[in-house]
Amino acid sequence: MEINELKCSWEKIKEELTKSLPESVHPWVFSLEFSGYDNGVLTVVTGQAMARDWLRKNHMTQMNSILNRCLNSDGNVFNIIYDTNEAKKLKKEIEKIHRKEAELQQKELAMENLSYMQSASNLNLKYKFENFVVGKSNKFAHDACMAVAKNPAVKYNPLFIYGGSGLGKTHLMQAIGHYTIFNNPKLKVKYTKTDDYINDFISNSRKSDKSIENMSKFYKKYTNVDIILLDDIQFIESKEKTMEKLQQTFDTLKDRGKQIVITSDRIPKEIPKLTKALCTRFEMGLMVELLPPDYDVRYEIVKRLANDNGIEYEEAVLKYIATHYSNNIRELEGAFTRVCAYAEMNNSKLTLSLAKEILKCGDAEELTFEKITDVTSKYYEIDVNDIRGTARSQKVATARQTAIYLSRELTNQSFENIGIYFNKKHSTALYAYEQVAKRIKTDSELNSAVREIKQVLKVI
Ligand code: ADP
Ligand code: MG
Repeated sequence: MEINELKCSWEKIKEELTKSLPESVHPWVFSLEFSGYDNGVLTVVTGQAMARDWLRKNHMTQMNSILNRCLNSDGNVFNIIYDTNEAKKLKKEIEKIHRKEAELQQKELAMENLSYMQSASNLNLKYKFENFVVGKSNKFAHDACMAVAKNPAVKYNPLFIYGGSGLGKTHLMQAIGHYTIFNNPKLKVKYTKTDDYINDFISNSRKSDKSIENMSKFYKKYTNVDIILLDDIQFIESKEKTMEKLQQTFDTLKDRGKQIVITSDRIPKEIPKLTKALCTRFEMGLMVELLPPDYDVRYEIVKRLANDNGIEYEEAVLKYIATHYSNNIRELEGAFTRVCAYAEMNNSKLTLSLAKEILKCGDAEELTFEKITDVTSKYYEIDVNDIRGTARSQKVATARQTAIYLSRELTNQSFENIGIYFNKKHSTALYAYEQVAKRIKTDSELNSAVREIKQVLKVI
């Protein structure tokens, strides 16, 4: 009989063997591979020494008679040999299966963890690194968050992310959470809004029979984690008791080598009545700022929004929205959604004229410190250089504070950046802003100055 022919029928012989031999030895039969046939001797190899020994010892007669029946002749015998190459191949295959199983298990664990995280912490599925558009304004913050996600509690601890409203703080912070539960599902992540933390603290610290027990539960809830994501920490201002507890939580986490990530709309020093102890703790890691996005980032965000939702658009619509919504990505997204909703309801196309009609942004150019200062100086009839200089007369001081106030309000830039432009420290810029914000409520002259300047700037 030709070898090739036999090779062909080897599978058939194997099938016959499994039909007759007990089920317990089937895996060993499956492990047998055809090696050669010579002079009535059929040589098969296995990577399992056990298979060779067991089959030889207990099933040889039966196997030989099956072989003879299949080949339709007498005197054929099996020669089972153990082969190290075959053994290596087998080992690799087993390892591959184990790896696949482990991956699957990890994915399942991640999915479980993810849905748990979502329901337990309101983690938004959109807030992942994949959905975050990176540009000059946010690259540093993005990279720091990615580094923390990849290696928690190694380098930047705490990571303090700050910047104006709608610039992506919550998005980036939650991206760390998503990344971790997908890639490192054994780690426990907790996302908490500071407001919720405060309310949780207050409700647990109410005097009751169970207050000690409740407090200990509260404490464990926030310390029994590997990564804590504390959003909008500025809301902790003046809450002395909560601050004390937070300090304790912070120290425990830090001592245990756990990662802390905090967001805030301002730097720690600018959070009113923040205890010095907390302020130093927040500053001891890395502080990263999110700046208002540049045009390219804004454009890319609206474009992705349109594409992800399968919306057809005129290129000019994206450009128009990206040009006019420069300070807040939430508002940028909101503007686009508004135009889309209007187009859908009226069954019309997403055109530039429609966007202009709905958003009424006019054709105003982007607001800058220069533009704001220019208009303010004209209103007060003083020189721009005086506003940015050191003159202290009442009029100049008011004009300067107004320009600083408007710069913060209309550009959402940090007090540090504003300070740099006006040649002042960031604390002076903050003070000026707060002064005007307070005074416009009662000072009608200042109030109408701010309104008029805004009108000239076409923001109202
Ligand atoms: P913040 O917490 O700073 O107020 P958010 O993180 O809530 O801001 O962001 C506001 C909105 O803008 C969210 O819908 C977020 O997904 C989106 N966003 C912010 N930055 C980006 C970015 N770089 N790429 C894509 N979307 C962004
Ligand atoms: Mg936020």
